[in-house]
Amino acid sequence: MRKIYLDNSATTPLNGEVLNAMLPYFTNVYGNSNSIHGFGRESRAGVDNARDIIAKAIKADKMEVFFTCGGTEANNWALKGVAYANQKKGKHIITSQIEHPSIIETCKNLEYEGFEVTYLPVDKYGLVDLKDLISALRKDTILVSIMSANNEVGTIQNIKAIGETVKHYDAYFHTDAVQAFSTVQFDVKDMCIDLMTISAHKFNGPKGIGALYVRKGVAIKKFIHGGEQEMGKRGGTTNVPAVVGFGKAVEVLEENLNAYKSKINETATYFIKKLEYTIPEIEFNGHPTQKNTSIINVTFKYIEGESILMLLDMDGVAVSTGSACASGSLEKSHVLKAMGKSHESINGAIRFSFSPDITKDDVDYVIEKLKLIVEKLRYMSPLKPKKK
Ligand SMILES: *Cc1c(COP(=O)(O)O)cnc(C)c1O
Repeated sequence: MRKIYLDNSATTPLNGEVLNAMLPYFTNVYGNSNSIHGFGRESRAGVDNARDIIAKAIKADKMEVFFTCGGTEANNWALKGVAYANQKKGKHIITSQIEHPSIIETCKNLEYEGFEVTYLPVDKYGLVDLKDLISALRKDTILVSIMSANNEVGTIQNIKAIGETVKHYDAYFHTDAVQAFSTVQFDVKDMCIDLMTISAHKFNGPKGIGALYVRKGVAIKKFIHGGEQEMGKRGGTTNVPAVVGFGKAVEVLEENLNAYKSKINETATYFIKKLEYTIPEIEFNGHPTQKNTSIINVTFKYIEGESILMLLDMDGVAVSTGSACASGSLEKSHVLKAMGKSHESINGAIRFSFSPDITKDDVDYVIEKLKLIVEKLRYMSPLKPKKK
C-alpha cells in the first residue's frame, strides 16, 4: 500500500544530512560539553557551531540563543520566566485565543497563580487585530505573546507590526515561531521581537530540541534549575547530538528554503485547485494568502473529520484534525472556534500539511481516495440535505 505523509505540522522526518551530522556525537564525540578537558571541548565546539548557525538565521547574537528540550519548554520558560521576573511591575499578560496548547495551558496556570491574562480574539482568517492589541495593552502589561504562524490553519500574523506596537509600551513581545520558522525570514531586531520559540522537529531536525531566543537585557527568571549550562540560564547536561542536528537542520533549511517553498507552493496549489474541482461543498479555513502554504485546513461539510482521518489512514494517507496536541481533548478546535466557525464546520475540518517531498502524483492519489471517502460518508450522513 502507498504511504503518504501529510501531517508535517505535527512532526517531520529527520533529514539524512542532519542524521549524518549527528552520528559522531552519539559515538566518538561523547564528552560533556561543559567539561573542561579535550573530550568536553570537542562536544562544546559542536554546540557552539550550532548556536552560531541558529543565531545568524534569526539575526541575533549567539549569547541570545538558549537551547531547551523543545518548543513546549521554550514557551513555558518564556511566559513563566518573564512573568516571575517582572511581577513587581505588573501581572498582566496578553496572548491570543488561537495559541498552541503550550501557551494557552501555561497562561491558564499563570492565571491560577494570580496573573491576569487577556486572550485576544481573531478575525475569520485567524488574524489578530492591532486595534484590539492596543486597547488591551495597559500600564501593568508585562508580556505580549502572539504566535507567528498558527499550527492548525497556517495564518501568519503581522509580526513586525505587533512588535513595533508592543515596543511603545513597557512590555516584552514573545512569539511562538515554531510553525513560521520554515517559511518566514526572521530578523528579531527589525521585527522588535524580545523572545522567540523555535523547535527543530518541525523542519526535519531531531525531536526533543528547541531554542528560546532572549534579547539581551530582557528580565527573565531561570526555569530549569540545576547546573550552569546555557550561560547559567538553563540547567541540565546538553543534548549534544540533538543540538548539532538542530544546527544542521537550520543550515539545510536555509540552503533550500526557496526551492522548498516553491515546491510546496506548487503541489499545495495543485491540491487546492483539484480539491475544489473534485469535491463539492468544501470550505478552506485560514488566511488565503498570508499563511504558511504548507498547511491546508479544509472543512468537508456534513461529515466528521475523524471519520475522514480514519478512512484515509486505511488508504495509507496520514492527516490530522486540528492539532496533534489538542486531539484527545473534548474541545475540538479552539482555533476554528475563535475564527467564528460553526460547530458543524469545526467537526468536518481536516488539516493537510505538506512537505517538499509530496508530488502531484501523491496529490492525485489522495484526492481520488478522498472523493470516495467523502461520497460514502455523505451518503450516510444525517446532516446532508436530501435532494428533493
Ligand atoms: C509543535 C508546536 C509546539 C511544540 O513544540 P515541541 O517541540 O513539539 O514541544 C509549539 N508551538 C507550535 C505552534 C507548534 O506547532
